Amino acid sequence: MDGSATTTRTKVTAIPGDGIGPEVLRATRQVLEAAGARIEWEEAMAGAEAFRKGIGSGAPKETLDSIARNGVALKGPLETPVGHGEKSANVTLRKVFEMYGNIRPVREIPGIRTPFAGRGIDFVVVRENVEDLYAGVEHMQTPGVAQCLKLITEVGCERICELAAALAESEGRTRVTVATKANIMKLTEGMMKRVGERVLKGHPALGHEHMIVDNCAHQMVIRPEQFDVVVMTNMNGDILSDLAAGLVGGLGVAPSANLGDGVAMFEAVHGSAPQIAGRNLANPTALLLSAVMMLRHIGDFATAAKVEHALYITLEEGRDLTGDIAPEGVEGVGTDAYVARVIANLGRESDKVPTREYRPIAMKKWPAITWYKAASTRELVGVDVFVESERDPHAIGITLQHAAEGSAFDLKMISSRGAQVWPEMGGNTFLVDHFRARFMFREPPKGDAVAEITDLLSRIGRQHRWMHIEKLQRFDGEAAFTKAQGEG
Ligand code: NAP
Repeated sequence: MDGSATTTRTKVTAIPGDGIGPEVLRATRQVLEAAGARIEWEEAMAGAEAFRKGIGSGAPKETLDSIARNGVALKGPLETPVGHGEKSANVTLRKVFEMYGNIRPVREIPGIRTPFAGRGIDFVVVRENVEDLYAGVEHMQTPGVAQCLKLITEVGCERICELAAALAESEGRTRVTVATKANIMKLTEGMMKRVGERVLKGHPALGHEHMIVDNCAHQMVIRPEQFDVVVMTNMNGDILSDLAAGLVGGLGVAPSANLGDGVAMFEAVHGSAPQIAGRNLANPTALLLSAVMMLRHIGDFATAAKVEHALYITLEEGRDLTGDIAPEGVEGVGTDAYVARVIANLGRESDKVPTREYRPIAMKKWPAITWYKAASTRELVGVDVFVESERDPHAIGITLQHAAEGSAFDLKMISSRGAQVWPEMGGNTFLVDHFRARFMFREPPKGDAVAEITDLLSRIGRQHRWMHIEKLQRFDGEAAFTKAQGEG
């Protein structure tokens, strides 16, 4: 679509959601309709109403079918009931449709007072949306020690970094920062760093750099105008995208998109704000800006620009704004009056809207197959056995050495929360009842290596509770495990 009048309408699933959701969605639809967006809305339900009806996922099948059919959704916030064991309906939607890319534009908005106003902040956070600690694979290892698996895949890193590059190219941006904690988590965050660098080399027109994520948080606060596109794993991206939203006015004005193969869902970053629901107080700016992203996604660049300009003019002039963003000393108006003002401003142009040559995001297709990565060689070199013990490391070391006698293994070291405590290194590592014992094969196993591990476990089990093991492998000659702090 080139933005000129067309006869076809794009079908979009509209999910009003909870709390202020129906109000901000209605307001957004009014502006889009007044701007001439050629959209046919298909309303669908999700969130609290679904949970009340006993749908534990928070999203009924009809809603999922509608999104699958239309491929585009505009969504109000959905409440997550606390303490009833229900899953978040938002997470359900992201996971069901594998919307792996969370796009969070961070741009200074005229008229929105912040300590950073006037700095020209204009960047986009691209957050991986489905992997990492948010896979939610958690176990209590002992009654007092919990574990959450940080699952990072090579293909997951590849597709989010490709998306970051495609997004940069679609907006005429020139630089991508890959922010990771690779200095500490060499295999997981390190994978994001390595893959990011490789992927971005394939986009030579884009500059790229790696930044350690804690420094990235610091840089975002002291010199936010340096960033263009920042790509991160899920949890880092979750935290830093909210920090970034705070720089330009907070969650109330922060838009977002969730992108997957063939499916895109646009939503405000804020929640359902139940305290102000139904009172004509809600600010629809964040959802309106999300709708602008949606219009660009469906190729209607002209209507997107028209709505964006009207919104910017309204905010710049500071007349008829909702209470949360009204200029100091000026009384806020209701959602309806604010929307009426935006509509009245349609057709006017703001010189504060950055000029960008938007193009559709050329998203790479990722076939729905089981991604299998072969290694030309694999060696099993040992095993980490996690044991629960109230004894001290010296005593545990003696018992585990004893357990290993007659097995195929030698005890190499014991660590407590990642730091070697046997053989003793000095220092005063705080101890809990959770230890990792690293056993290495004395010589490369010739027969059934798994049977050797089973034998070792049964020997250990006579004296200790073990709750978890990890094979220690080498893939293509490279160690597929990290060393403990202090391990030689
Ligand atoms: P919230 O709904 O974002 O509300 C926090 C406060 O922010 C509100 O009380 C209100 O402040 C202000 N606010 C947020 N959006 C506003 C808007 N559009 N206009 C004016 N003021 C706005 O956060 P929450 O209270 O933590 O979460 C409430 C529910 O929303 C929870 O059930 C949560 O799970 C859900 N949630 C959903 C999503 C989503 O669907 N993507 C995201 C986040 C949270 P004042 O008190 O100053 O009026």
